[in-house]
Amino acid sequence: MIPFVDLRTQYHSIKGEIDAAIAGVLESCQFTLGSEVEKFEEEFAAYTGSTFAIGVNTGTSALHLALLAANVGPGDEVITVPFTFVATVAAIHYTGAKAVFVDIDPRTYTIDPAQIEAAVTSRTKAIIPVHLYGQPADMDPIMVTAKKRGLIVIEDACQAHGAEYKGKRVGSIGDFGCFSFYPGKNLGAYGEGGLVTTQKGEFNRIVRMLRDWGAERKYQHVLKGYNYRLEGIQGAVLRVKLKCLERWTEERRAIAARYDLHFAGSRIITPQAMPYARHVYHIYAIRADRRSRWQEELQAQDIQTGIHYPTPVHLLPAYADLEYREGQFPHSEKAANEVLSLPMFPELTAEQTDTVAHAVLELASHTRAGAGGQPKAAR
Ligand SMILES: *Cc1c(COP(=O)(O)O)cnc(C)c1O
Repeated sequence: MIPFVDLRTQYHSIKGEIDAAIAGVLESCQFTLGSEVEKFEEEFAAYTGSTFAIGVNTGTSALHLALLAANVGPGDEVITVPFTFVATVAAIHYTGAKAVFVDIDPRTYTIDPAQIEAAVTSRTKAIIPVHLYGQPADMDPIMVTAKKRGLIVIEDACQAHGAEYKGKRVGSIGDFGCFSFYPGKNLGAYGEGGLVTTQKGEFNRIVRMLRDWGAERKYQHVLKGYNYRLEGIQGAVLRVKLKCLERWTEERRAIAARYDLHFAGSRIITPQAMPYARHVYHIYAIRADRRSRWQEELQAQDIQTGIHYPTPVHLLPAYADLEYREGQFPHSEKAANEVLSLPMFPELTAEQTDTVAHAVLELASHTRAGAGGQPKAAR
């Protein structure tokens, strides 16, 4: 079987160091925050080229606290994309603000900067570009619009640890960067985890307080805070894994290049790495014209695939109150109907990559030529 991701093989490759790191935390009894979390924060700030890094319990909490620190609240609007994991939008609504959607660029699956300006109103406070699949959004025009309209930029970098935009690491470009260490992410904890990066001392101070009950010193609650602390064991695990992240990222990029080579000249639409980007391939998604059949047939050959994501957020029942309709974000809707994520993890072997690619090419050769890549209405 070729799994979609394989966390066990990775654990076994670093087992000695991980087990010792966890045992160290058990001995120290620093179970939440503590010195391992502090060291991880310093190391991750350096890794992203950021001045400050604040560990929190999930990527969703990272987004929530960045929004609160940006003073986003009831009556405000925050611009983001509907083609993302639901957490991006959920975090906006936790603050009492409302998400306003802008469609994606269908080549990159990230926000189309040319459409942002038209979505800005007097209530807009922030923009959340999502570095989906591990490729940075086109940040320069986003930062220009933000500066012109006085908006805060919060990078959703939950899928993009180590990705770069014009040589700059994500998380160091906007006012905030938000990361997730959910186990399946490029840098994954052994449990939940998240982190906020920022360059501003005042933002650092506020996020740091909010994650721990709004207190700067014990029982001195200055703000209405949360229990969003990162656990000591996760800090220790993440420190071990951060040392491997560059190697794992290069392995992901090599697998992507191998897939690309197989699919070159075929009808398969592959991920497009932009000239400005260091793409870190959290997800390698192709477009499949007969997706459910392809997925079933690959499964029958013991090849696991995924769909990220089958429904854009504006069409999810949970966000029906935003009153968007089908057809409003055609690129997001089309992508949601077509994307198919192939197995992608650093330990995937060249042989496994070849097996997957051959199976996909075989399926594509059986699909009627000309049927692929056309809008639904044209079929
Ligand atoms: C994973 C993810 C999140 C949320 O992170 P959690 O740690 O699961 O809370 C937010 N945005 C995107 C794009 C993600 O992929």
